[in-house]
Amino acid sequence: MKQSVIRSAEILCVGTELLIGDIVNTNAAYIARRLATLGIGVYRQSVVGDNPERLAEDLRAALERVDLVITSGGLGPTYDDLTKETAAKVFGREMELHEESLARIERYFAATGRVMTDNNRKQAMMPTGAIVLPNDYGTAPALALVREDGKTLVMLPGPPRELEPIFCEQVEPFLHPRCDAILYSRNIHIAGLGESAVESALPRELLDSTNPTLAPYCTAGEVRLRVTAKAENEQSAAALCDAMIQRIQTTAVAPYIYGIDVPSAEAALVAALSEKGLTVATAESCTGGLIAKRLTDIAGCSAVVAGGAVTYQTREKTAILGVSPELIERCSVVSAEVAEAMAKGALARFDTDLAIATTGYAGPGGGTERDPVGTVYIAVATKATVRVRRLSLSPWRDRAYIRTVAATNAILDAWRLLTASNG
Ligand code: ATP
Repeated sequence: MKQSVIRSAEILCVGTELLIGDIVNTNAAYIARRLATLGIGVYRQSVVGDNPERLAEDLRAALERVDLVITSGGLGPTYDDLTKETAAKVFGREMELHEESLARIERYFAATGRVMTDNNRKQAMMPTGAIVLPNDYGTAPALALVREDGKTLVMLPGPPRELEPIFCEQVEPFLHPRCDAILYSRNIHIAGLGESAVESALPRELLDSTNPTLAPYCTAGEVRLRVTAKAENEQSAAALCDAMIQRIQTTAVAPYIYGIDVPSAEAALVAALSEKGLTVATAESCTGGLIAKRLTDIAGCSAVVAGGAVTYQTREKTAILGVSPELIERCSVVSAEVAEAMAKGALARFDTDLAIATTGYAGPGGGTERDPVGTVYIAVATKATVRVRRLSLSPWRDRAYIRTVAATNAILDAWRLLTASNG
């Protein structure tokens, strides 16, 4: 059998539930991302219902176009699970019992205390010559068929909690010897500059580079620059990425970079606090606890997050944070002065090293001429310093966006204050 190089692939997901929109096709996205890391180009993704004729037609066509076809779904025990049987017909193979898989399925049922029915035996039936990729997460084994000319079909079970580990543990080692390049990516996280400002601050030759490539992605409140290199091994690809990252660190974008390959702004802040042995408290109005939620999403945050208060109504800003009613009356509840007083109040109330406060108009109603919807005042305070910033987001954005972006900016303002103060 030919061990030809695999460069191109198609993903074909099987299931009427997918076709009619009952479930979202997360498997296709997952497989595509993993294939990219193997340097395999995905040319098409398609969905077909539980219909053997149309499935056979799609399989034949895909196998003519690309080196590798990966299917998901239709490996179950029921009558409408027909992927293996259809593939056997397309490859001109018979179905036979795979004793090892049958023994595994029997063990799986014994271990989970469930009764094995006759149709579970069907899951141990394989096209002749199939390469079985055992499933430790469910009953349906995955499998691969390789044609005389090297064209390969990999069939995976539909449930993502089975498909994803099987892909990493079985499919990748199976494909690896037949890949001639790998793709390797690193992500530079930027906040405080919009996507177009980031692009115009980068030299043209970096943006036009083909290996590594540089791709900006804009998400709420930040820009991510993905640097991707293709090379024959991870070490060479990493070296190409590192050289590009070093170049970017000499451009005008550099001061806005808050991390490389960090999972999120909150993870960067919790890491900085942990490193310095400092604690934080939050005082939130328009973000309604989002900042506290995001900080406490991070495992291990209990050493650094002391607590927080959602002081939505004016009275609570006074009662809990000690903001003076006179100040609120004079400056308005959405103002730099009140944000600052909230941060100082939280610092005292929770006795922390750092406090983060927000007050603003998330809309759609409210706002004033001076401070329309989309205005958020962010204050970050330590015992020595207070920094207040007016964030001005478009009033046309929805409430969820304004709150998310305000929270991200507040978290990053705290991160900046912390990392700048001690160098
Ligand atoms: P089973 O052994 O559970 O029958 P199967 O290989 O036959 O697995 P399907 O019956 O097609 O797979 O799908 C089982 C379940 O897996 C679906 O109900 C759905 O929850 C999930 N699933 C299937 N395909 C996808 C997909 N492409 N993306 C996300 N989830 C999926």
